[in-house]
Amino acid sequence: MLRHLAIAAALSALLSACGSPADAPTQAAAEPAKPDVALYALDCGRILVSDADAFADDGSFKGVTREFVDPCYLIRHPSGDLLWDAGIPDALAAQPDGLKTDVYTITVPTTLQAQLQTLGLGFADIEYFSISHSHFDHLGNANALAATATFLVDKEERDHMFRAEARADAQSFSLYNQLETAKTTLIEGDADYDVFGDGSVKLIAAQGHTPGHRVLLADLPESGPVLLTGDLFHLAESRERRTVPSFNTSREETLAAIDKVEALAAATGARVIRQHVPEDFAALPRAPEALR
Ligand SMILES: [Zn+2]
Repeated sequence: MLRHLAIAAALSALLSACGSPADAPTQAAAEPAKPDVALYALDCGRILVSDADAFADDGSFKGVTREFVDPCYLIRHPSGDLLWDAGIPDALAAQPDGLKTDVYTITVPTTLQAQLQTLGLGFADIEYFSISHSHFDHLGNANALAATATFLVDKEERDHMFRAEARADAQSFSLYNQLETAKTTLIEGDADYDVFGDGSVKLIAAQGHTPGHRVLLADLPESGPVLLTGDLFHLAESRERRTVPSFNTSREETLAAIDKVEALAAATGARVIRQHVPEDFAALPRAPEALR
């Protein structure tokens, strides 16, 4: 896709060169334009939860049934494409009844690959891949990106996903094992990571769900800032109630991460997307349309 951008840039240079000098606007001290960043919401599966008890350690979701969405997000920037989270494996689309575990029914109504195709893209066209965290529902298609994309990953999360215990969970590990040899940029420490070097897309440490959980802040030219909050809030009620799932790696870090992200949302006026909450997903344009 970089090639297409180069062609577009050449065309736009050609068109602006066609205007006579008299047509040129006088160059006042105009604000520099924001980079042309677009956010595409992709449906990467559904998880029907028959009992959401594990999503709050105070028992408040015991017996609650809920459908989670499981989106992936493609962020297109003039310097490259970034896929944020990789959903549930496309292979599950071949099983219309999905996969049933004790409390989950997991389905893939439409593949990530098919949705990328509506944008004229294949997995190999995506330059960067990053994750909120390393649970199976965020890594399902990770191996499809491992050979070509650069994996941007929090060092603590990478250590967590390649620890002995994770390797022993053969089924989950097989979804992302090829990332171990992917071209990788390790994000060390808790500072924000500026993906394109212009402040338009940042990966922000928000640990506690897992040791290296991060959220993504994108500054869109028309819509303004948007926060993709990974698994900081699972249910619609989770944000207001500040619930902490019983399987999080740290309660203390989770509450600190909620405080940090809430402060960031207040300071930037960002739209907060709770990634598993259907209302938040439904309110976004769906690929091939984008939020700009
Ligand atoms: Zn999740």
